[in-house]
Amino acid sequence: MIAYLERFVHGNDVESRQADEEDDCSSLCDALDLQGSIDCVATGLAGKDFGGVYSFKPLGFVKPANSDDVARVVKAALRSSNLTVAARGNGHSINGQAMADRGLVMDMRSMEDHFQVVRINGTPYADVSGGALWEDVLKRCVLDFGLAPRSWTDYLSLTVGGTLSNAGVSGQAFRYGPQTSNVAELEVVTGKGDIIICSEAQNPQLFFAALGGLGQFGIITRAKVELQPAPDKVRWIRVVYTEFEEFSRDAELLVTRQENDSFDYVEGFVFLNSDDPSNGWPSVPLDPQQAPFDPSRIPATAGSVLYCLEVALHYRDTDHPSTVDAVTNLPTLQLSLNLLQRSSLKSNAPYDHKLLSFFFFLFLLVGEFWTL
Ligand SMILES: Cc1cc2nc3c(=O)[nH]c(=O)nc-3n(C[C@H](O)[C@H](O)[C@H](O)COP(=O)(O)OP(=O)(O)OC[C@H]3O[C@@H](n4cnc5c(N)ncnc54)[C@H](O)[C@@H]3O)c2cc1C
Repeated sequence: MIAYLERFVHGNDVESRQADEEDDCSSLCDALDLQGSIDCVATGLAGKDFGGVYSFKPLGFVKPANSDDVARVVKAALRSSNLTVAARGNGHSINGQAMADRGLVMDMRSMEDHFQVVRINGTPYADVSGGALWEDVLKRCVLDFGLAPRSWTDYLSLTVGGTLSNAGVSGQAFRYGPQTSNVAELEVVTGKGDIIICSEAQNPQLFFAALGGLGQFGIITRAKVELQPAPDKVRWIRVVYTEFEEFSRDAELLVTRQENDSFDYVEGFVFLNSDDPSNGWPSVPLDPQQAPFDPSRIPATAGSVLYCLEVALHYRDTDHPSTVDAVTNLPTLQLSLNLLQRSSLKSNAPYDHKLLSFFFFLFLLVGEFWTL
């Protein structure tokens, strides 16, 4: 959020204040001459986020068509003594970070759909708009180019700008770092409304401030995200532990193995030792079609919380099965193997299916609370 600390101050009469604000918003809209638009009435979505803890009504919900529109809005706010501006990706913050109380919220998803694969010194990058959803980036990169970003979030209905403003962490971060470490260049609209290209070599202060900067140092309108060849398939395994020490020891062992002798994805989660549909055993199977987790395998001595290690190996259709088996053969990995051998769940899935299915699972998990 680009903060302009002075708040929008009006009289105490709520009705006349609302009418004044709508007038202010409409005149701002006319004055800005945007290629996009500003919604002064239907601002509901802009005042909510995933957390559902805060709700602030903005003055207007801006739908910028391009970087020029973003710059015009920021410049207008800069000229005003009391307007705040916030970029909104897909609103998956939990603490009101993408809101502006009686300010302008910028709907980054409405920006024009820019997507191009470019090469810098031979390395491929996806040049995408800040409002693109990662799930769309995935589909385009894999299906059209056979390429994929190196570092993901688990859940892909998040925007490029939204996660690059945080970190962007998932099971590949142990090898490639977070998403913020996999970007060559950004286009950023600064707090003065300038459109600046930045990278490690060009305007590096802005580059490193915008990455992980929660939108406080500028609005990311484009990013060049590093790609690598996409695998055809993944062997995807979840194993369950009763003891945290064994779970964490195995996780550490897996992330420190040599790259050619190790999984490509390592992540863990905690779940309840119960039949709770969202947080218990039903959340463990990899696929809704798969046999349910069998709780009779859990020893009577287990506590109220269990641990699940999730690992995946990327491979090509042309790889010999024995090569894949050699890396994924858990008993030979010298893991703790207490509960593990008896309760591992395994699946071979197309690469994009594995990434997108997390979205599917999570949607099931959060369905009850999802109100946007
Ligand atoms: C269900 C769920 C699953 C998640 N899974 C993961 C995960 O696996 N890994 C992970 O790392 N995180 C995860 N997160 C956290 C998520 O990465 C952050 O909440 C992220 O900010 C949300 O992205 P968004 O596009 O919804 O951004 P928003 O919530 O809309 O915005 C987030 C922040 O970034 C700013 N912002 C948005 N767009 C831009 C832009 N273009 N330029 C500059 N600033 C901008 C906003 O002002 C705000 O401060 C998850 C969150 C949820 C709710």
